[in-house]
Amino acid sequence: MCVATGNWRKQPPLTINPHAACMEGCQLNAYYDPGTPELVFPQFVDKGRTKYTCSSFDVVAHEAGHACLDAMAPGLLKTGRLDHKALHECFGDVSALFASLELASPAQQEVWLKKPHMGTCIAGDLTGTCIRDPHDDESISCEEHSLLKPLTRFMCQYLQHQWKNRARGVSPINILRQAQHDFLAAILLNLGSSNILTAITHYFHNHKTPIDDSYLTLLTYHFTMCSGVV
Ligand SMILES: [Zn+2]
Repeated sequence: MCVATGNWRKQPPLTINPHAACMEGCQLNAYYDPGTPELVFPQFVDKGRTKYTCSSFDVVAHEAGHACLDAMAPGLLKTGRLDHKALHECFGDVSALFASLELASPAQQEVWLKKPHMGTCIAGDLTGTCIRDPHDDESISCEEHSLLKPLTRFMCQYLQHQWKNRARGVSPINILRQAQHDFLAAILLNLGSSNILTAITHYFHNHKTPIDDSYLTLLTYHFTMCSGVV
């Protein structure tokens, strides 16, 4: 996802702290600090055992996604706007999904792209339980880690749609690269919009027509539900 846009933020090299001390009661946690800038992966305790968040591929890819987006679109983390925060969280989860797919074999990629409910199970490799599943939108709220789900799910469905309707000879990695490019273009071209979440979905709807209208309606419902705070 870290492609050159020609407009990268100038900042010191990213520091990575893979074995930070445990924080907030030794709960599972990790974060990107844009100030330093730094990726911090604290230890945590799970069922009496000390574990390291840096050992989770999803968690590392998610936090690295924050750093990439902050470099490409500096300022989103400073506005305090909920849509910007939710976009950052979505970008982290989609980065984890794209990175997992990228590293899989072509045969595994095909299996993934056909999977019902394809998505990310963030931190499932650490505790056996997903801390976030984009297909679980029963209890969606206007908190950024919850509000990200419709857009993450949308990107999963977009990837699967593109795979299903691919031209002859197109490989999974071609589909993945195109989806990465499209997602990034949708973000960077809509940075000035009043609600970047809805702007991105409309961008896809307008430029990449295959999106199901009923799905767009669902997305709009979730986003407008939070319109008072976005
Ligand atoms: Zn995050």
